[in-house]
Amino acid sequence: MRLGHLLSFALISTWFLAAAAAPNELDRSGPAITLQSVVYQVGDQWHCPLCRQPVENRDRFGMDLKLCLSEWHDVFIEETYFKDKIRYISDEELVASLSIPVIEPALQQALQAADGKRISVLLHDYFLTRPDNRRLSTYDTYNRKYFITIDEFLQEVRADSHRTNAIIRSAQTFYTPERGFTLFGVHWGNRIDFNHTYRTASKWGVHYLSFLDDQINYFLLTRDPQTARAFELVFNQWYDQLDSVQQEPVIHYQKSYDFIWYELGLANRTQKFIDAARVFGGHLSPETHKRLLKIILGSSRWLEQCLEKTPFHPYNWQTHTAFTLSYAAAAFPEFAESDGWLALGKKYMILHLENDIRDDGGYVERTPGYASYMFSVFYRYMMMREYFLNDPSMRQTYLPRLEKFIEYFVLTQTPVGVNAPFNDAARGKDLVTLFKEMSVFFRRGDFLGGVRNELSSETLASLPVAVREPGITSIDFPDSRFVVMRDSWQPTSYYLMLNYGEWQNHTHYDQLDFEIYANGIPIALDAGIGRFGYVDTLHVSWYKHPLAHNMVTINQAVPEKRDRPGYDKVWAPLTNVEFFAATHDGYLKYQKARHRRHVVFAKKRYWLIIDQIHTERKNQEMDFNLHTPCSMTAVEDGFISLEETGFLIKQDHQDAPFVEKIKDKGIADLRGLEAEPSHRDIDWLIFRRKLQGDPAVDRMATLIYPFASKASAAVETVTVERQALQDRAAIAYTVTARDRQDLIIVSDGAYRRFTGSVAGDFTYGWFSYRDGRLDAAAFTDVSRCKVKGMRSLSFKTKREYEFKK
Ligand SMILES: [Zn+2]
Ligand SMILES: [Zn+2]
Repeated sequence: MRLGHLLSFALISTWFLAAAAAPNELDRSGPAITLQSVVYQVGDQWHCPLCRQPVENRDRFGMDLKLCLSEWHDVFIEETYFKDKIRYISDEELVASLSIPVIEPALQQALQAADGKRISVLLHDYFLTRPDNRRLSTYDTYNRKYFITIDEFLQEVRADSHRTNAIIRSAQTFYTPERGFTLFGVHWGNRIDFNHTYRTASKWGVHYLSFLDDQINYFLLTRDPQTARAFELVFNQWYDQLDSVQQEPVIHYQKSYDFIWYELGLANRTQKFIDAARVFGGHLSPETHKRLLKIILGSSRWLEQCLEKTPFHPYNWQTHTAFTLSYAAAAFPEFAESDGWLALGKKYMILHLENDIRDDGGYVERTPGYASYMFSVFYRYMMMREYFLNDPSMRQTYLPRLEKFIEYFVLTQTPVGVNAPFNDAARGKDLVTLFKEMSVFFRRGDFLGGVRNELSSETLASLPVAVREPGITSIDFPDSRFVVMRDSWQPTSYYLMLNYGEWQNHTHYDQLDFEIYANGIPIALDAGIGRFGYVDTLHVSWYKHPLAHNMVTINQAVPEKRDRPGYDKVWAPLTNVEFFAATHDGYLKYQKARHRRHVVFAKKRYWLIIDQIHTERKNQEMDFNLHTPCSMTAVEDGFISLEETGFLIKQDHQDAPFVEKIKDKGIADLRGLEAEPSHRDIDWLIFRRKLQGDPAVDRMATLIYPFASKASAAVETVTVERQALQDRAAIAYTVTARDRQDLIIVSDGAYRRFTGSVAGDFTYGWFSYRDGRLDAAAFTDVSRCKVKGMRSLSFKTKREYEFKK
């Protein structure tokens, strides 16, 4: 099967919800994958995906999108308020919105004389000479100590040629006096057309005006007056073109919103304008400076309306809105509305801090990308309250919550220094810098234990904390619904992270899927996100699709995610072996199938994954999907990597006649991985079988056996094979590798006799034999058992137990 073929089918299944499959055709019905979070229907009523309140599902075509405050609720800004108080702020309105007693009489006089120029000069002079704490919201991307002073920032950057060069490169890519402006690869000369549609960025992205950050940084570094002039030019061009930016359809977007006047764009851009006004102010003409004040005032009012009229929604947009509105108020207390903005911002920020950060430290949107972005917003907000308003109370109350937030990132980080990019997130090493700064801030040397190889010995020696390994290796996050298995904090550690969560904003359509790393290389990868993010043509059809994930699919259909988390969880992290299991009902509604996945981790050796399907339907297809950057070749019962360091994947030897093995390819995000491009097609292995509608046979057992060196692993001897048990209520497999044979039994907790040498009332039993003699065993939920080779067990209550000779 070719990728193109599968993708076209994936697209078809996305757009058409087949009500019922024709005979002999696979039932691929299921939910439609969408880019955005969209309203959902129960009976006749539509609901908001985030707050779940009933909403209308109105077609917004023809509406003035500038007035539309929410993606899901039909709440709008009143038209005249938008015109007079937001978009076209007159001098009179600006003066009335400011409370500056020292120049108030002069301003009134200039107003009466209709002397706009005089008003500009008065305001310019005032803002240039009044005190400013020189702490900015945004610096370069490496800055993780938010709201440090400009001087501290410069000191840091000047000591780091990599950062200095990155700023210079970025600033000069956007503008040089000789060449003029260049944006997203398009050379504009002296005038940018802000209505242009770029191939690599959405129009919303364009209007964040992200280039401003490094223009500001470059100016701080060089004090080159040409940079200030370039800002003045580009800002006025943008301002003058505001009304001529055309609405147009954007790939994957079902419901549009205005490119300029929408929540996230305003929250992002306004924060930059506040920085720009404070840094460039003295170098701008009084007229431009007044325009900046007007756009900051109008934008803040738009954001204020948004918080006033939209319900609380646990996600990033509203959090950034609460922050930016607060920053406008703190940086410009002269605005008469600033006290109200501060109070509203605080109310929402507290709601987000308490709800969006889970008690286990994970973030509500279940992606490392949005989590680290929101960390920066929360942290900024606390420090801003302290530095601008002399109010340390938010920091004092919520800092422990942020510490837990970082702890979550640390404990989920892969052994090779990248994050595992579940859901809408890119892979990369960005978190390493964050861990470094936060280890100093929180005095937590354990934040760096897992990434110490990513930092130079000079950097490590310069830190005021002693680097040590985290006290925990494997951990379950019951609120965020991720689990991590690892055997050490070495870069070569075996590592698996598995997702068992339900739908949230920015989640993909994956169920019980995982990433695996071992011996310093990636073994099983999530596709991550495309090169062009949400405007990548494959974003919906591939990156969000179940087939791009290391999971079991039924008929290659899309499973449900909303309200379909993993349940009946087992989590037993023992010393030598770990057990995890969960069931999900993502395929229950359409394919009438239930999937239970058991993961057995024999530390430093292998994973055995047992997938059981409970369905009465016959002839549905069960696929075990695995994506790997290793180059795989078929062997008996499975595949092996061609690389010397790699892995073997095999299924139950007795299933081989019923299982079709397929090798395909699919694109994946490989950013941050050694010797890999940002994206490429990687191997996609599929084990496929027809379901019989009989739980006794509808299962697969897959062994994932990594090796540091193929030659020394004696891989030709490795097999997994089911065992016939005396008691058919349980299932068992043996994993044979070199001189060892492990028996794994999955039972129901009733006392049963499984083989001639094993009986007991455990749920999971693992028995490891060397040359035929038992030398290790592990149990979950055991109170009684009799096993040849160890003494009988008898406990008053059920417990976990490990035996080691
Ligand atoms: Zn809502
Ligand atoms: Zn994904």
